[in-house]
Amino acid sequence: MKHRAEYRDADRARRLAAEIARIVRRPWAIMEVCGGQTHALVRNGIDQMLPPEVEMIHGPGCPVCVTPVEVLDRAIAIARRPGVILCSFGDMLRVPGSRGDLFAAKGDGADVRVVYSPLDALAVAARHPDREVVFLAIGFETTAPASAMAAKLARDRGVGNFSLLVAHVLVPPAIEAIMRSPGNRVQAFLAAGHVCTVMGTGQYPPLAARHRVPIVVTGFEPLDLLDGILRTVVQLEAGRHEVENAYSRAVTDSGNETAQALLAEVFETVDRPWRGIGTIPASGWRLAAAYRDLDAELRFDVAGVTAAESPVCRSGDVLKGALKPDRCPAFGKECTPRTPLGATMVSGEGACAAYWYAGRRPRS
Ligand code: SF4
Repeated sequence: MKHRAEYRDADRARRLAAEIARIVRRPWAIMEVCGGQTHALVRNGIDQMLPPEVEMIHGPGCPVCVTPVEVLDRAIAIARRPGVILCSFGDMLRVPGSRGDLFAAKGDGADVRVVYSPLDALAVAARHPDREVVFLAIGFETTAPASAMAAKLARDRGVGNFSLLVAHVLVPPAIEAIMRSPGNRVQAFLAAGHVCTVMGTGQYPPLAARHRVPIVVTGFEPLDLLDGILRTVVQLEAGRHEVENAYSRAVTDSGNETAQALLAEVFETVDRPWRGIGTIPASGWRLAAAYRDLDAELRFDVAGVTAAESPVCRSGDVLKGALKPDRCPAFGKECTPRTPLGATMVSGEGACAAYWYAGRRPRS
């Protein structure tokens, strides 16, 4: 708690906000990439402490939110097969597919279990050798190493009844896609510290140089975020576009090289569709050829399952930073955490849920 309190000091937060207001001269739009950053910003009212010149745009870095609807439909189709145990992080159970969610499938009798790690799912497989156990592997570079470890251990231990439905996604291609998208307004990024803890900061200098955008790596506490915003505004006002590490207590330039080697062994990059955004080139991982026999999509032949997004939900615009959640016509009306129409209202990291739980109400 001591170290947490250190990064939540209200006086220091006010001083950082005042310094941002003192130095800013022009309007700037800064995207915080990660859903964890979004929740911290909104929960602590940091976006409302900033001067009007600084607009925070909420990015696509919520792993549950960007998992495509067809992945949910494939998971539900697998879960409904006799003899299958489908293991998933808890957030995924209430994310709507095109026809219901995993929670409803569980209610109908499917064996859907919440786990905290893919290694827990592997343990379930070891305990039930007569059942097929599938782990729904979603998330960014942060959760992928544990999926890779589960795949490697399954191979090493000969656990033949374990497989993974892989939908992992990567941050740098998403930043590239945002900068290339027509009408993009983002002028700088707060990169997510936990992703860089794994991958290091080495992927960002080419992005910063190519698009002339400052990229500042931050943590998730209020002072981490305000420090990152201050550093970003300093760069923007000075016309600089560099990568800065404002989270050096956890992030190094090279990251976790052991995890990176494991990821390179188990996965290969692939074009991946992002929910509400579309396909981003080389933005995801799938199992590499040597691990392809653990691919649940092939084992259960569900690759052909496709699905359309809800016509009402505008989470794609929210995830691209083109729409604030409280401007969505359904926000707080048809769509609340009890009746979510899109993943951004379900997930603990979703921008729509962040606004709702912070007490923000419809503006349209
Ligand atoms: S408020 Fe609901 S319907 Fe609107 S974008 Fe968010 S999740 Fe979708």
